[in-house]
Amino acid sequence: MPLHLLHHPLAAHFVTHLRDKTTKPATFRSLAYQLSLLLAIEATRDLATTAKAIATPLEPVTGEVLTQPLVVVPILRAGLGMVQPFLDLFPDVSVGYIGLERDHATAQAHSYYCKLPPLAGARVILVDPMLATGGSAAQALDLVLVAGAVAPRLLCIVAAPEGVATVERAHPSVSIYTAALDRTLNDRKYILPGLGDFGDRLYGT
Ligand code: URA
Repeated sequence: MPLHLLHHPLAAHFVTHLRDKTTKPATFRSLAYQLSLLLAIEATRDLATTAKAIATPLEPVTGEVLTQPLVVVPILRAGLGMVQPFLDLFPDVSVGYIGLERDHATAQAHSYYCKLPPLAGARVILVDPMLATGGSAAQALDLVLVAGAVAPRLLCIVAAPEGVATVERAHPSVSIYTAALDRTLNDRKYILPGLGDFGDRLYGT
């Protein structure tokens, strides 16, 4: 499974400030936006285009326009912090939502909400900022695949090796895009060094 790690000094700069515990929610949201924008560009490099003849004020020219529908699917709630750059970049993007919660008895995540637009023929991108154990991501990938997604991609901001391995085992052909690959998980399943609870820091809770 291809793991795409953002290699850009700007990405490293944003991640460092995102990790910093003194970063306030407004700045955190803006850094999450900038990183998601870089990831969105990276994960759509190979979107299909078609030729389109137009005329500039000076002469005719054949350009290219996007033809492949794009669907972004945040995993609630932290994934919502990665959606806006897709709306800003891609005028015709559709948004689906997946809500997963953990059953404390079984430690299994189950879906309490799943609303997806038509996925056939679309580039489907799941967004979840923290790939920790990988359980939620693997389950969300199951849901979009059952709903008709072909070769969905997973975008996160920070990934743990354990999460990457879980997704790789469950979905060997899924590409993961991340801005940082961290060291490990602690015993509460937080990523180290990580940045703490992404949703809490995003929404100031
Ligand atoms: N979710 C978070 O918000 N942070 C982690 O470190 C792991 C999962």
